[in-house]
Amino acid sequence: MLRQLCRKMFGRSLWVYHANSGGCNGCDIEVLNALTPYYDAERFGIKLVGSPRHADVMLCQGPAMRSTARALRRAYEAMPAPKLVFAIGSCACGGGVWHDSYAVLGPVEKIVPVDFYIPGCPPRPEAILYGVALALGLVDKKIVPAEVRAEVLPVPKYHPEDLRREEEVTVYTKAEKF
Ligand code: SF4
Repeated sequence: MLRQLCRKMFGRSLWVYHANSGGCNGCDIEVLNALTPYYDAERFGIKLVGSPRHADVMLCQGPAMRSTARALRRAYEAMPAPKLVFAIGSCACGGGVWHDSYAVLGPVEKIVPVDFYIPGCPPRPEAILYGVALALGLVDKKIVPAEVRAEVLPVPKYHPEDLRREEEVTVYTKAEKF
């Protein structure tokens, strides 16, 4: 449903605003790398803009911080609807290594509603492009549903109480002299 909506609304062009709310810059470098001519994100119509007022999508990096939460929320509210938010990197998706720091509130979904998650520390530019293209319905999923079967394995009994019941088994409870 969301993918169909994305394809209809953002299928030809996607202007992205890049927001770092407190990450280590590892994810920023990979996002900017994905936007360079080498990876050529513009072939999907993805273009970086400098203001949230011109953006369709917010790319969030870093965890939600106490110090930047308000600015992040204001940037989100400045974006015109319809809008999407991508959480990029483990910090944005779940708080990452900083999740229990006093300065960190947790994942960015605590501040802005996240539509898509691209985990990794940091995710490679290929993963970011693939995640965005997948979310927009430009490529098909590369996975097939797997069937998982539970199997019960016999557990050997070694408790002396269990052994005592078995015939032909001698259980020594204390050292004996022969
Ligand atoms: S996910 Fe990793 S690379 Fe990205 S901001 Fe967090 S610590 Fe840095």
